Amino acid sequence: MHELALTQSIVEMVAKHARGRTVKRVTLEVGKLTCVMPDALRFCFDLVAAGTSLDGACLDICEIDGRARCVACGQEFIRHAVYTTCSCGSLDFTRISGEELRIKEYELAFDGAAQIERGAA
Ligand SMILES: [Zn+2]
Repeated sequence: MHELALTQSIVEMVAKHARGRTVKRVTLEVGKLTCVMPDALRFCFDLVAAGTSLDGACLDICEIDGRARCVACGQEFIRHAVYTTCSCGSLDFTRISGEELRIKEYELAFDGAAQIERGAA
């Protein structure tokens, strides 16, 4: 299960950054074109976090629309699939968002928020 391996790497990374401190909340940015299911991530997160410094932490998932800019006509549009066309008929576009999968930030029990950026997986 893809989401399980993904959640394990997320929990490991946050736990490492937190250096043993209790993590209260983790915020992820998940592009809608990644094929990652937010519900599956939430389910796996509780399992994987159990017994770590993320035990009981809240998982917030921000879903990011797939946006692109058409090279032919210049308009920005929403991609509902990885392969799509602009309304002008052009297949040539620049990807703006929708394929990201990163830890936006995590919140420690006492010291407030900390930021980590993680590249697209
Ligand atoms: Zn176009």
